[in-house]
Amino acid sequence: MTRATSELIIEPAIVRKNISYLKAKLDDSSKFMAIIKSDSYGHILSNIVRDIDDIVDGYGVVRLEEAISIRKISSKKILLMQGVYSQSDFKEARDNSLDLVIHNSLQFSLVKDNDSYKNLWFKINTGMNRLGFEEDEFLDIYTTYLSDKKFTLMSHLSASNVPSDISNKTQFEHFDSLCQKLNPDILKSIANTGCVINFPDKSMDWVRVGIGIFGGYIGNNELQTAMTLRSPIINIRKINKGQRVGYDGRAEATQDMKIATVYCGYADGLPNHIKDGTKVFINNVGAEIFGKVSMDVTTVDVSHIPDCEIGDWCEFFSPNHSINNLASSNNLISYDLMIRIKSRVKRIYKKL
Ligand SMILES: *Cc1c(COP(=O)(O)O)cnc(C)c1O
Repeated sequence: MTRATSELIIEPAIVRKNISYLKAKLDDSSKFMAIIKSDSYGHILSNIVRDIDDIVDGYGVVRLEEAISIRKISSKKILLMQGVYSQSDFKEARDNSLDLVIHNSLQFSLVKDNDSYKNLWFKINTGMNRLGFEEDEFLDIYTTYLSDKKFTLMSHLSASNVPSDISNKTQFEHFDSLCQKLNPDILKSIANTGCVINFPDKSMDWVRVGIGIFGGYIGNNELQTAMTLRSPIINIRKINKGQRVGYDGRAEATQDMKIATVYCGYADGLPNHIKDGTKVFINNVGAEIFGKVSMDVTTVDVSHIPDCEIGDWCEFFSPNHSINNLASSNNLISYDLMIRIKSRVKRIYKKL
């Protein structure tokens, strides 16, 4: 061991494999937009773009800075998925040939003021009720300004990962019924990862896939986690039955035990409320978290691993141990786990 620190190892080859798997589900005519907001879900944005640029048709992000950094290395389509909010940002987006989502009339006034109608995506509220025009509001704008324009109509599903949820049906119906009222050659996009997996016939002109390419989609075992969070053991001790471990003595030994203290805590991005019994892996043997995650360290029951030593790695998730297991056993989502890893964790980005 050199300097002890937690590591986040990122494997772009797995990201590519996940993309290929997802693309195989689509109609040939559907284009694949890799959603890489929030530093590509924590996977290092510029590296990911460089390593997937030949197999995707475009990128979606939320922040203008991220879009501009992609533009420096890719000539593909780049969509700012929540658009812009000022004249200066509108101009900057246009100068960088970015596509823009327009989700309300205030944003549309930027379009009108600049008389700039190219590369626009209009977002429709079909039931999620966060962003997007209501149908009537959109039809007014469409009739007055857009009936001779090319654009993409988009919406976002609220429960695509639960195929039986009634909202999927109502959102598709809502979207389809609006499409019927528009020029048939406008482009359409509604699918995120869950939709590609559960409703691949709704891939339309563009899919917008994020979590699936990083292997964080629950309910599909083909998609692989592309990052490993691991941390070295920095202490091992024996405790007796009845002794308690960590803050508030949350974990109490029901028999004599061996406890490994691992160099990763909530200051590294491991959530503080992770439960006792959560599975981690030491030398590829499953072990359980025992005691509250503290700022810098986490304690693990290694009573059943006779040969583990200081310096051995504890893996929290990896391509072989899905991030979804850690997430779902702790009422977390993989998205949140991926993007919360802190900067003091050493990032190791593997070569393709
Ligand atoms: C984040 C996002 C996506 C990607 O969703 P995943 O569930 O990660 O595939 C698609 N569309 C929009 C508008 C988003 O904000």
